[in-house]
Amino acid sequence: MSYIPYGRQDVDQNDIDAVISVLKSDFLTQGPAVPRFETAVATYCDAKYAIAVNSATSALHIACLALDVGPGDVVWTTPITFVASANCARYCGAEVDFVDIDEQTYNLSPTKLAEKLLVAQAQGKLPKVVIPVHLSGQSCDMEAIYQLSLQYGFKVIEDASHAIGGRYKNQAIGNSRYSDVTIFSFHPVKIITTAEGGMALTNNAELAKKMDLLRSHGITRDPSEMTHTPDGPWYYQQIELGFNYRMTELQAALGLSQMDRLDQFVAIRHKISKRYSELLSDVDISLPWQHPDSYSGLHLYVVRLRNNSKAHHLAVFEGLRAAGIGVNLHYIPVYLQPYYKNLGFEIGYCPEAEAYYAEAISLPMYSNFTEAQQNFVVDTLKKLIFKAR
Ligand SMILES: *Cc1c(COP(=O)(O)O)cnc(C)c1O
Repeated sequence: MSYIPYGRQDVDQNDIDAVISVLKSDFLTQGPAVPRFETAVATYCDAKYAIAVNSATSALHIACLALDVGPGDVVWTTPITFVASANCARYCGAEVDFVDIDEQTYNLSPTKLAEKLLVAQAQGKLPKVVIPVHLSGQSCDMEAIYQLSLQYGFKVIEDASHAIGGRYKNQAIGNSRYSDVTIFSFHPVKIITTAEGGMALTNNAELAKKMDLLRSHGITRDPSEMTHTPDGPWYYQQIELGFNYRMTELQAALGLSQMDRLDQFVAIRHKISKRYSELLSDVDISLPWQHPDSYSGLHLYVVRLRNNSKAHHLAVFEGLRAAGIGVNLHYIPVYLQPYYKNLGFEIGYCPEAEAYYAEAISLPMYSNFTEAQQNFVVDTLKKLIFKAR
């Protein structure tokens, strides 16, 4: 069997045609495709505003800036995430801290968040922003996090990089009902792709305007935002220090076309996930647990080996890779990265996250994953677990 990656894009002829038609059009950037894509995603998610950018990392950065994160501030996130969820605060000069995960969903635990907030309040070090991450596409307990945000006065950015197409309490993730901003990623391993790309959704007009400015140099062409009447028709003003974080027309056309199949992509992932859970039901491992409030986008299918043994975990992981199965581990606790260790974090800081790290394996899942490939993955995994005992 040829190499099986853990995730990969599904690009069809309609997607290709959409990109080619942009190539033949007048605009490769700053044309009509980006606003169209933004409208499609905002409408799908039932959010008022959507700002497309060149990556979810950029979206996280401008969301933090729009919420005035800066030196002297603290931003909290989960350790079980991609480094970008924490780095965005560092870009703004803020400190980062981590809240341990829930043992069932592996998402940031609202209980531990509440405990940590109590302590932080006593120390006068409350976070300015908390960034919950919807790991593998399953929403965090957003209602609980939102209640805490009202109580303690912090802002919330949902890192929904895994979660477009998913639902929480029967409403689309991305509607930002329990947060200030929601972020999506369109990297090729995610649910839909624009090659590289991301988006920030919000219902707050002021935040939307700030993020719009920040993605394009902080430049405005709107006379009402300028310090004086325009010098002439050429005139624009830079009123903030922004970046070039724009999404291209090619990317937006691909994303817009992919939106047509978003529900289908998620349905296929659910089918694969269900089949994994059936085929693996007799194996002594933990299968992904789904909260009843959640309809996950199922970016990942994460299993946990039960005995918390590093050697066993490594042997199973290596065995799968040796068989040509591109399993992965989402994620190494962020604070164990040398960059964060150098900021003072130590082993043992978030015990639940470290226990997860010692046992987790993401099995392959993507829309063109065949049943034969899945059988091979399951058979190989079963043999390895049996052998390692
Ligand atoms: C992929 C990912 C990101 C970064 O997305 P990019 O679009 O590659 O910048 C951020 N957070 C999480 C949780 C991710 O999985």
